[in-house]
Amino acid sequence: MGLGDRFGRQAPAQLKAVIDAGKKGIEITPVWNKSNREHLIIGTAPGDVRAEADAAVKALKFRKPYFVDADHINFDTVGRFTDASDFFTIDVAAYIGQKAGDEDIKAFVKKAEKLKGKLRIQGIPKPFNITSLYLKKVAEKYLFATKMAGVIYRRIENLKGKGNFVTEISMDEVPEPQTPSELYFILFMLAIEKIPVQTIAPKFQGRFNKGVDYVGKPELFALEFESDLLVIKQAVKKFNLPENLKISVHSGSDKFALYPHIGRIIRKHDAGIHLKTAGTTWLEEVTGLAMAGGESLAFVKEIYKNAFEKADELCAPYADVIDIKKERLPSPSTVMKWNSREFSSAISHNSDCRDYNPDMRQLIHVGYKLAALRMDEYLALIDRNRDIVAKCVYENIYDRHICRIFGIK
Ligand SMILES: [Zn+2]
Repeated sequence: MGLGDRFGRQAPAQLKAVIDAGKKGIEITPVWNKSNREHLIIGTAPGDVRAEADAAVKALKFRKPYFVDADHINFDTVGRFTDASDFFTIDVAAYIGQKAGDEDIKAFVKKAEKLKGKLRIQGIPKPFNITSLYLKKVAEKYLFATKMAGVIYRRIENLKGKGNFVTEISMDEVPEPQTPSELYFILFMLAIEKIPVQTIAPKFQGRFNKGVDYVGKPELFALEFESDLLVIKQAVKKFNLPENLKISVHSGSDKFALYPHIGRIIRKHDAGIHLKTAGTTWLEEVTGLAMAGGESLAFVKEIYKNAFEKADELCAPYADVIDIKKERLPSPSTVMKWNSREFSSAISHNSDCRDYNPDMRQLIHVGYKLAALRMDEYLALIDRNRDIVAKCVYENIYDRHICRIFGIK
């Protein structure tokens, strides 16, 4: 499970949720993730995430594996992550659609020749019809990206040593989903590159906006998710990929409409999953501060007011993963009059509550830069309200995510 923690204070509360899941028989390996983008905006370094994770693990006497993820790295950004990380999310999105050399494409099509004709994936009723033209098309779209994944993987392997880290390949930050048959051939290409890929993040249909629920048809997602799972299962055997290769869902947190489907399907196939959540721990910190009232509530109101004024600037880096209807944002002058309950229920993700405002929640989600600009003040408030904030963080991970996916309680 990927856990984000932008300000580096909540790892113990997050880890407690993992430990409590373990007591219910749900084995979760925590993976602390923080993207280069977040590091740049906040002014932290990958070593900070490592230090935080190690300290939490030690404090809570956690004796199982855990990882620190170099989240969404590519050839240009991997460098600063190699020391601190032991999980690498190699993001090939930017390379998809760039064409490999003609010779490389020809060589791949030749290797894939044996897969031509009716491709049957166990568990998927209809076979895929694989023609030479299809193989060429799929190679033109993905071969360069998988070759780049190989280059980046080998760079990490040279520095860290084979087997000393987990490799994820991500393709989720692209406009179009990969089809299950494309996924099959992508896995073949990764096997040719000899990348011991342990998790793979395809792009799914629908929108995965950060911190709010799925936008799309959950039943269609479920069909796609199950097909991808079956494709992975077969690819593992056929292409000799690592036994524990899992599907990775870059959920952006809070995809509550999908969790029962994901849970049901992974149980049906006895499959693992890598569920990456986003840095919504920050939203829990804001909620906790709002609930604390007084100076803390005043602080988060200020953050909202500034975020409202700077909305365009704050949203720009996140354009593909948020969807804010500006006309539905409360005016800062209204929010300034709110009490603790009004503020916290507006941004807490409880769709049964009529005060819940997903637009405001998303705006605050991308507004963490504003707290980073007042870092000392912010961290002092977080420390002063440690318990109430930790409770929000814990309940979010445990009750709203883990329990809903794994059907606990
Ligand atoms: Zn992602």
